[in-house]
Amino acid sequence: MATKRRPSFNSHNPVNDEVVGTYPIISKGEVTGTVALARAASAQWQELGFNGRKRVLVAWSSLIINRIDAIAGLVSLETGKPMSDARLEISMAVSHIGWAARHAESIMRTSYRRPGLLMANMAATVERSPIGVVGVIGPWNYPVFTPVGSIAYALAAGNTVVFKPSEYTPGVGMWLAESFNEIAPFTDIFTTITGLGETGGALCISDIDKLSFTGSTRTAKLVAAQCASVMTPVVLECGGKDPVIVAADADIKRAVDATMWSALANAGQSCIGAERVYVDEKVADEFIARAIELAATIHAGAPGEGNYGPATMPSQIKVIQSHIKAAIADGGTCVYGGPQSVKAPFVQPVVLVDVPENSTAVREETFGPIIIINRVDSMKQAIELSNTSRYGLGANVWSRRKGKQIASQLTCGMVAINSTFAFAAVASVPFGGVKDSGSGRVHGPEGLLEYTYARTIVRTRFYLPLKFLSFKRRAQDDKLVIALTRILKGRLG
Ligand code: NAD
Repeated sequence: MATKRRPSFNSHNPVNDEVVGTYPIISKGEVTGTVALARAASAQWQELGFNGRKRVLVAWSSLIINRIDAIAGLVSLETGKPMSDARLEISMAVSHIGWAARHAESIMRTSYRRPGLLMANMAATVERSPIGVVGVIGPWNYPVFTPVGSIAYALAAGNTVVFKPSEYTPGVGMWLAESFNEIAPFTDIFTTITGLGETGGALCISDIDKLSFTGSTRTAKLVAAQCASVMTPVVLECGGKDPVIVAADADIKRAVDATMWSALANAGQSCIGAERVYVDEKVADEFIARAIELAATIHAGAPGEGNYGPATMPSQIKVIQSHIKAAIADGGTCVYGGPQSVKAPFVQPVVLVDVPENSTAVREETFGPIIIINRVDSMKQAIELSNTSRYGLGANVWSRRKGKQIASQLTCGMVAINSTFAFAAVASVPFGGVKDSGSGRVHGPEGLLEYTYARTIVRTRFYLPLKFLSFKRRAQDDKLVIALTRILKGRLG
């Protein structure tokens, strides 16, 4: 009798389209089974306590850094990015694992709250507990750093995790769980399931307690809808169109260096990568001239040959091409590169200037090695234009004196002043966006608390003669409560 072949898919090297590996498409039934095992393991993982979990996570982080070339090689193979970039990404992820492991206990410590005058006889406390099983769905652009920002924090808080990596980087996703399981005290604490969008969909409606998604805004809406149908809460880390504001008093040389790296590194496939620059017209010519000069020294190519690699996802080439064409058709000017810079799978750097704000190229996430530089007559205008986007992930501000003042007026989740990307590397600060860039946070205390729930406990310390939480409440009790409320002007609670 012929046996039924298991559905599978291949991951490819985007440089030459060669098959890197073949992975099973995990079915809905198998997702259910995996989540059930994760739930069964949950109690034992919680019982291990903060110290026990810290030991496991720190051991995992050591294992990853000791084998950095193995995992970086796989990242480079599946995404096409240079080894050096892969190593940097992995090092940053390892720091996050260590931070989450070391800080979970203090972040989740029971907090004591003031009960207020009317409740002065009560002790009020808030405890934090892990939510149970966390589902994580990840993208391919930073296939270690991005999912680890959810996985490590969820594990440190005492949850078990089921992870669905991108279909472009399943090998990296498998490596993460396999390496964890080498040092895990028992199975099913952290499992990777491979597959396409349907497998991710099955995870959304499975018996998980929270879903942490990183990917495009379009998919985030589908994920949120599926999760809403079963009342599963979500963290959504989505796309961006990050602005860079350059004031007249900026260090232009440094601003150009960081901005061009932010825009071009990883072939522009960074959610927090610079996509549009608003530069004060007084320094715009210098900024543009330096940007062109720098772009001319940067080349896309295979790992070992280029400063950055190919477009990892072949379909992105069409989006990049259409944005360059739209920018030109709408009145913008290519001052370096142009439509001819796109030679799949590589895209050489493109610098566009004076692109009208209503152009698709300015409004939509390009996710390619392209930078748009527009002049502004004031910082007020730069702030307004930055904030008109439907996205609100990160932003960079370059100014010697007004950095903080500008940063505080931006509608976005993170701002780097006289720097770029820095907030992603600081483990103690939350990472995430507003508007179409998502909701909820990863990293830092806020990110860890996403994978916990608050349990309020109020305890009677002594009894008051006042019986207002009883059918024995008397008219004089009512009068007293109202009189106190009036005198204290709402300071009762
Ligand atoms: P994507 O939305 O195409 O896919 C993300 C994941 O969702 C993949 O694992 C995919 O298999 C899964 N998926 C697809 N359809 C699904 C469905 N119906 N239900 C459940 N899961 C489904 O995104 P991508 O192309 O992998 O990643 C690039 C995007 O991610 C960019 O927009 C980028 O800005 C964003 N991103 C955001 C952050 C952040 O922290 N905000 C970080 C990295 C990437």
